[in-house]
This record gives sequence, structure tokens and C-alpha cells, in this order.
Amino acid sequence: MVQTQEDRRRALAKRVCTCSDGPEDCLKNEETVTQWAPSPEKFRREPDVDKEIDFSVQRGQLTPEECWALMTSTGRVRPMLETAVVRYATVGDLRNAGIAVMHTPGRVADGLHVSLVWPAEAPLDHGTAPWPPDVTDDVNACFNEANPKGVNRND
Ligand SMILES: [Zn+2]
Repeated sequence: MVQTQEDRRRALAKRVCTCSDGPEDCLKNEETVTQWAPSPEKFRREPDVDKEIDFSVQRGQLTPEECWALMTSTGRVRPMLETAVVRYATVGDLRNAGIAVMHTPGRVADGLHVSLVWPAEAPLDHGTAPWPPDVTDDVNACFNEANPKGVNRND
């Protein structure tokens, strides 16, 4: 059965956190989020429109290995590609680009999964994909250059 955007909004609503500030506000503007990619030219620029209305990142400034461990913790264990990279954005910058930055850990206790959803206003009611091209450009401008090692490694 083909999923509608409404189905996807309902699925997203089931994954939001129960933090006291609520899923739209629990991340602070000064926090960093991390996006992982299998290689520098393969960063997703917007939600995968065939599967989702949200764009997945992880909370915090993580190395590629840390991100990979989170992404694969509930699935099959595979070695990470040597070419894997991460890039970082600040939550406040993403919000300024018109995006809701939502904590969506699902059932993972203390989970770090974060969903970027457009529009920022009532995202669980109105979240949609694909994003307008100018929103996609603004969001991608929030991220720094791909960093193959992450900032936590010195080698
Ligand atoms: Zn939260």
C-alpha cells in the first residue's frame, strides 16, 4: 500500500520524544546536529520523498563512527565504509531556515535521532516533502563542509 503524507505524519508523531520541553523545543538553538553520508558527494539534501517526510540527523557533534553506531544499533551490524563522512549544523541556523528541528528518538531510551521537518509551523499537522527548492538550499547552507574524521578525532 502506498503511504500518504498523512500516514507519514502519523508515523513521525509516534517517534517524538517525551522530554518536558516537548519535541519541537527540547533541542536548544546552540546545539549541533550531525549528518552522516557514505561519501562526501552523497549527503542527502532533503527527505527521501519515497519513504519519509523528515530528514534524519543525530543530536550532537559526532564522528562518522559514532553516527554509524547509532544508525545501525537496531539493525544488522555492518562495517562502516572507509569513505564515510559527517557534516554539522547548528539547530538555531536550521530553525532560521524555516525548519522544525524535532527530537524523534522513537523507542530508544536517550536516543539521539532528530528529524528536520518543513514547515516549522505545526510540523506534525503540516509536515510535507519534497521541500521547496529554496528551503532545501537554505537548509544545506546551514551545514559545514563534509568532515571525514569528525572533530573529535585528531589522527
Ligand atoms: Zn526531546
